[in-house]
Amino acid sequence: MLTVDIDSNSGFCAGVIRAIGNAEKFLQEKKAEGSEDQRLYSLGAIVHNDAELTRLVNQGLVTIDKEDLEEMVDATGEVLLIRAHGEPPQTYETAEALGFKIIDCTCPVVLKLQKRIKETYIRQQEEGKGQIIIFGKIGHAEVLGLIGQTDGTAKVVENIAMLEEAVNNGEIKLDEPTEVFSQTTKSPAEYSRLCTRLEEMMAAYNELSVERFKGRYLLSVHDTICSQVATRHERLSRFALEHDIIVFVSGKASSNGKVLCDLCKSLNIRTYHIDSVSEIKREWFRADDKVGVCGATSTPKWLLEEVAEYILELNKYVPAWEEKFIN
Ligand code: SF4
Repeated sequence: MLTVDIDSNSGFCAGVIRAIGNAEKFLQEKKAEGSEDQRLYSLGAIVHNDAELTRLVNQGLVTIDKEDLEEMVDATGEVLLIRAHGEPPQTYETAEALGFKIIDCTCPVVLKLQKRIKETYIRQQEEGKGQIIIFGKIGHAEVLGLIGQTDGTAKVVENIAMLEEAVNNGEIKLDEPTEVFSQTTKSPAEYSRLCTRLEEMMAAYNELSVERFKGRYLLSVHDTICSQVATRHERLSRFALEHDIIVFVSGKASSNGKVLCDLCKSLNIRTYHIDSVSEIKREWFRADDKVGVCGATSTPKWLLEEVAEYILELNKYVPAWEEKFIN
């Protein structure tokens, strides 16, 4: 018989809970006032999950993108929500110039990271030297918000190959004071490997052993991965190993979902990434499988429960499977 466990650590992170809570509070207040214009604009999807988005759209949430914002001429009286990922300073300027009132739901952890990057950038400017590297996904909203703190000068790298390429073409200099930051939702293990590689390259370039290079303080690595994400990596690793099959639930556009699902796949080859119940295939499961259902920081708990219930229903087909195995 199939058994199913839901990972108790999966589900929305504090930043997403806060953003959704603020959106719902605003829309409910509007409804209570009897306002006919019950609408709240969100710049980008408040959460990378279609089912949860639909629930919020039904309450009056309208998702727009940067292009929509730039095409607007007057938004006086309208309200714009900035989601947990945050935004670069120019976005606030554009929205305010249009007349939007802003509900800023940038996660406090992201805000702190933006502040640290900005302070580093200003200090490097004053000293007349230095470079900032961000380990993150190119084009991701949070990363754009981080680059925005440096007037667009920070170099973003997604992996070691990209780091090496940037060094080879001179975009990253090995003799410059360097400060490295990570997007909050990246893998701690990958971040550590990337920084180790950079340190090796900088030490070799400066003709020093790694140990002696450390004493030169040319490289500062900032621990900026969100603690909720880092803890989730550890616990999810155990969860993936403890189950025969993993059903990972998250929107395919979720950066954090991809990272966490890849982590599960690296530990459990029978990992399947779905964004809704409709993608589940009966042939993935064996009669006595211990199934683990988990998700990203953008996956609602109710969706994990829906998936678990659906999988349990598959037990009705167990006799048919057993027959198949016997034959
Ligand atoms: S993952 Fe962490 S930093 Fe990112 S929004 Fe959630 S709580 Fe904030």
